Amino acid sequence: MKIAPINLIQFYKRAPEGETKNLEKNKYISPDIKLHSQPAADTVSFKRAVSLLRSPFIHDPRELDLHCACCSSLMLKSSIVQKFMDKKIYYPAHIALEKIKHEQNFRLKEQSTFMQRAYSFIKNEANKNKNLNMEELMQTEKVNNYRRNNPKEQTKALNELRERCRNISHCINYIVGEIEKLHPDFQGTEETVFQELKRYAKIYPSETISNIFTKPAIRAQYLKRLQEKQNAKLNKITPLMQQLSPQYAKRVKNAYKQAYDIFNHESSDILHKRQRVIDLFSKALEPMPFETPTDREIADLIMKKLETLPDSKNDANAFIVKYAPRGSNNFVEVLIKRLRNTKEHVKPHHRRGDNGQSDKKNYIYLCGKCNHERMTQKYDEFIEKHPKMPQNTQRQIDEICDYINEGTLNDYDTWPNDIKMPLGEESEGLIVIDTSKLDLQQAKQNRALKLEDYIEQQKHLAEEQDTLMTGPYRRHGKKKIYSFH
Ligand SMILES: [Zn+2]
Repeated sequence: MKIAPINLIQFYKRAPEGETKNLEKNKYISPDIKLHSQPAADTVSFKRAVSLLRSPFIHDPRELDLHCACCSSLMLKSSIVQKFMDKKIYYPAHIALEKIKHEQNFRLKEQSTFMQRAYSFIKNEANKNKNLNMEELMQTEKVNNYRRNNPKEQTKALNELRERCRNISHCINYIVGEIEKLHPDFQGTEETVFQELKRYAKIYPSETISNIFTKPAIRAQYLKRLQEKQNAKLNKITPLMQQLSPQYAKRVKNAYKQAYDIFNHESSDILHKRQRVIDLFSKALEPMPFETPTDREIADLIMKKLETLPDSKNDANAFIVKYAPRGSNNFVEVLIKRLRNTKEHVKPHHRRGDNGQSDKKNYIYLCGKCNHERMTQKYDEFIEKHPKMPQNTQRQIDEICDYINEGTLNDYDTWPNDIKMPLGEESEGLIVIDTSKLDLQQAKQNRALKLEDYIEQQKHLAEEQDTLMTGPYRRHGKKKIYSFH
């Protein structure tokens, strides 16, 4: 392949400030440059130059330490959460394989020859690589070759083993330790759930989360507390019902009775109880003509009270009851993802007739929990429940401005001002942003310094690699990728 060689340092000088995403090749490479298959030593390809130009900077605010623009929790960087999900919750493969061997519905001895062969191969590999989990092991050269060189049935068996290992999570003690390393800024429900995890990690350190919280005696405790809360909330409705005109009160009392049965007499495995109860009442209240304004007011009050019924978002007992039976991996995943730094479409992506763009000019950054809660609500309604959102949004804008000024975040120079208008519109003027912190002059200087440092570093690396590339590499014609002079 022939490439147009360009001098890196010169390129940096001409490249635009603050925006490195879609550089047009033609602007930076004059047509009189000749294409070379053996470029000069002080040049790199355009693609490589762009990638080097971007390397010392962060280009996505989800990779910064930011506070949620709504609840103000310190969010976990998106890539860190991903890495955690990919790695930390699984046992190393050699342990996972040992565990599945004896599972009731598996029993290695009763399996086909293909399965036995696949098992003995992968177990052997796992023993050689004790620090790898099954997912990582599957990426190794050895396993890839094994897949290529064996019949389909063999590969299928290997995939089944992978699936089985995926379902086995690490013990609670290990997982709690790994979560602690992230220093998560859990609050409210999530904080309580995490405290419960820590408590049980001391009592049953080597069991899985799912096993512990589905033990009948332990589960019963959480169910009991959940039920007490549900009943307490229901009881708050009783005095309201009595204030309704008698002909309406009858229907609501009926709904109340059914709701009580749902919470107290149905099996704990049945899901969506809360939503069913809310639906019951809204059905009972909706078709009423509401002869008096008082009836309407009371109906609204009842519905508002029902909104505070415990669920897995606002109550730790509900969280544990809901997620423990779904397996430890799922439990941890839900917990961690609630604190993940996510893109929030200021103008929602899916709102009829008024679709927001998937573009950074339409993003702020919310934790997974707030993002999920907002859905397509207008901000002025959302702010009623989260009155601190305007000031927390300003805090986030200030944080991002700091990251731009210090030269860390690139490609976002215009963002603080771009986002002003959508925020104002979506919140009916409740969110007013001040971007006076932004200092692009400063940003430019700091970026230049960072880039220089980075080039210097790369230079050293290239030189080191040079000395490492001894005879055989050169003889086999391994190309030197780039060099600086
Ligand atoms: Zn939040």
